[in-house]
Amino acid sequence: NYQVHIIGGGLAGSEAAWQLAKRGIKVRLSEMRGGGDMTPAHQGEGLAELVCSNSFRSDDAENNAVGLIHQEMRDLDSVIMAAAEIAKVPAGSALAVDRDIFSASVENILNSNDNIQIVRERIDRLPDEGHVIVCTGPLTAMQLADSIIAKTGQDRLAFFDAIAPIVYFDSIDMDTAWFQSRWDKGDGKDYINCPLDEAQYREFHQGLLESEKADFKEWEKNTPYFEGCMPIEVMASRGLDTLRFGPMKPVGLTNPKTGKRAHAVVQLRQDNKQGSLWNIVGFQTKMKYGAQMELLRKIPGLEKAEFARLGGLHRNTFIRSPILLDRQLRLKSAPHIRFAGQITGCEGYVESAAVGLMAGIMTAAELAGQKIEPPPATTALGALLSHINGDAAPEGKAHDYQPMNVNFGLFAPLEGRVHKKERKQALTTRARSELNAWKNANAAIM
Ligand code: FAD
Repeated sequence: NYQVHIIGGGLAGSEAAWQLAKRGIKVRLSEMRGGGDMTPAHQGEGLAELVCSNSFRSDDAENNAVGLIHQEMRDLDSVIMAAAEIAKVPAGSALAVDRDIFSASVENILNSNDNIQIVRERIDRLPDEGHVIVCTGPLTAMQLADSIIAKTGQDRLAFFDAIAPIVYFDSIDMDTAWFQSRWDKGDGKDYINCPLDEAQYREFHQGLLESEKADFKEWEKNTPYFEGCMPIEVMASRGLDTLRFGPMKPVGLTNPKTGKRAHAVVQLRQDNKQGSLWNIVGFQTKMKYGAQMELLRKIPGLEKAEFARLGGLHRNTFIRSPILLDRQLRLKSAPHIRFAGQITGCEGYVESAAVGLMAGIMTAAELAGQKIEPPPATTALGALLSHINGDAAPEGKAHDYQPMNVNFGLFAPLEGRVHKKERKQALTTRARSELNAWKNANAAIM
């Protein structure tokens, strides 16, 4: 007696359930916590539990991509944003909540909707039929993870992320750095190189050893799938020259400013189609954010670097969405199954809920026999989706799919030249009118 089965009652699953139920669709929401199971990070049984910080980050919808996605979700009657409003605590321009009131509010709202049946059960297999949305998050139970692997392939589900910091191109000093591929392979613009002389390298190496690191949690260490994603500082600890033979090797690169080979080189690789985002190759790290920014800005050429994303390394279950999913978040090989939330390779509470919201609306449209185009990449929702479906990735260039927060680098470029200072406002103003147009075009399902 339900039309859609949602697996996982976290941020994404709760939002998807709400978006369906408010459109009159009957939902079974299966959540394993409260049914005898737990994840290593959750503490209780409440739906939409915030496992760490109590912040939804910036609430500034004019100058910040996260603030903008908050606004877009409010415009689409998000239950996560409604509960955040109820549970709000003072946090300046950020949106922070009392986590208990927040989770209880989500649960109350869902409980009081007759179309939602919340069942405390663990699901171990992807269902063979029916409309399904998998929202089991970064700590998906192993049995279900195995079932996803069986359906998608061994190398299509990651158990750890390995996030290298991403820098905005216009914050890189190209008077110091230069474009060149190693041994001049490729089109000459594939990599940006930052040179270090011996003294700079030694200082940087020492900085890596001394910088403050976040610890791996006990349960992260015990996960059997941790392979091939060694933090840069662990590599540094193996010897002074290990990095010079690894990600910082200078061979095959000539600094056009000096005509010489540098002692060591930090390489950045294009990370989005527009070329506005560049990731620092091989620099996944457990350094704390403050320490990371301070040290990375010592790299010649990156003194004024602005970061779209800082590096990290966590236990994190996610699928290779650009290969596996269609534009409606459906598994290509089994289109009755959608994925939403962090398991699709977005990152963060808000982003996870946002993908849940889109999956809910897309499923509702499908059940109503309506065709719905995803929100355009000029909106924050659409920009996030373009990361998940691979549209934002650089064309024809190597791209390592890793989880990503919403950020302006994912948005479709502005037309014409807009002064740097005015770019954010131009993007958010355009997003507001584009979201409205999208809503109007799909009024039948809104
Ligand atoms: P979740 O909110 O985790 O929801 C998934 C739900 O599925 C859980 O309730 C789980 O119990 C359930 N489940 C799993 N498997 C099954 C199954 N087989 N059957 C039934 N139910 C199942 N993001 C931030 O923005 N800020 C932070 O501070 C932050 N800190 C984090 C700290 C940790 C340790 C982790 C792991 C992640 C953190 N994140 C943070 C990232 C992420 O945004 C959150 O994990 C977010 O909750 C993801 O939302 P989700 O709905 O995809 O998954």
